[in-house]
Amino acid sequence: SHLIDRIAAGEVVERPASAVKELVENSLDAGARRIRVELTGGGTTRILVADDGQGMDPAELRLAVERHATSKLPGDDLLAIHSFGFRGEALPSIASVARLTLESRPPRAESGWRLVVDNGSMAEDAPAAVPPGTRISVDGLFARVPARLKFLKSERSEVAAVIDTVRRLAMAHPMVAFELLHDGRRLLHAAAAPDLPARVLDLLATRDAVAVDFARDGLALGGLAGLPAASRGIADHQYLFVNGRPVKDRLLSGAVRGAYADLLARDRHPVVALFLTCDSSFVDVNVHPAKTEVRFADAAAVRALIVSALRRALDAAGV
Ligand code: ADP
Ligand code: MG
Repeated sequence: SHLIDRIAAGEVVERPASAVKELVENSLDAGARRIRVELTGGGTTRILVADDGQGMDPAELRLAVERHATSKLPGDDLLAIHSFGFRGEALPSIASVARLTLESRPPRAESGWRLVVDNGSMAEDAPAAVPPGTRISVDGLFARVPARLKFLKSERSEVAAVIDTVRRLAMAHPMVAFELLHDGRRLLHAAAAPDLPARVLDLLATRDAVAVDFARDGLALGGLAGLPAASRGIADHQYLFVNGRPVKDRLLSGAVRGAYADLLARDRHPVVALFLTCDSSFVDVNVHPAKTEVRFADAAAVRALIVSALRRALDAAGV
């Protein structure tokens, strides 16, 4: 049964970033307002996720590491079930390929509890003096499954994948405070923000970006424009908002690309967080479950505004 466990585990947790994703999603499900992720040795030595959520009592802790045990209602959200992997599978899967330590205390409980499952075997189940909330650590991920360890990339790429995972989760949950450390060094920090635009600015705030603040003819553009040196080979570091609403729009991303055209190599994409504000008569925002489409009354004016605003900001920075 150990072999089966380990094969199944690979479907849920294939690298440190996937374990982090599962653990942080559990913290979010538990109503956490603060989540701290600490990695050691790229995550294979240790992953720790600490939250201030609702916690688990001893019975819930034991259930949490049982296969297929979930406290969550399936609802009718098939897509969510699919993307969250198997219901009730994450913790038992991780526990089958690492030493998993769960420490938890519901906020109103007098004391807490610690449960340790070491590569599939229960190693500890006892009271523990722990703060309210939950701390889960994963020690020696895949240490006993060399075939899986072999598939991991360099420590640097595994850490980069964790940063990306935490950044995405932080973008999706602006009101929750996030912190990520690797070997004691802080890689990401986001205080609880009132809304998504505030969270995006917080996460992108870097010395490698310049402020954009430009208005013309009833259209205004604010935010941050990454310097060419900060650009990446992937396009998804572009955060575009129209009247406070996140959008993915070809006109807008095309204008951004145009503004950076002669500053970037072909395979690079600018990093930007841009907030376009305009009178609602200028724009028709069509909110669709899969995408948010925008249609502008004067597309050429919007394009020109974006190009001028970005060029001006980058020129002022001497780019
Ligand atoms: P699922 O999230 O699909 O239910 P998991 O294996 O990820 O399955 O977690 C199992 C159960 O453990 C959850 O249903 C939840 O009850 C409990 N749990 C896990 N992490 C936490 C946490 N950080 N805080 C509170 N409860 C948790
Ligand atoms: Mg889960």
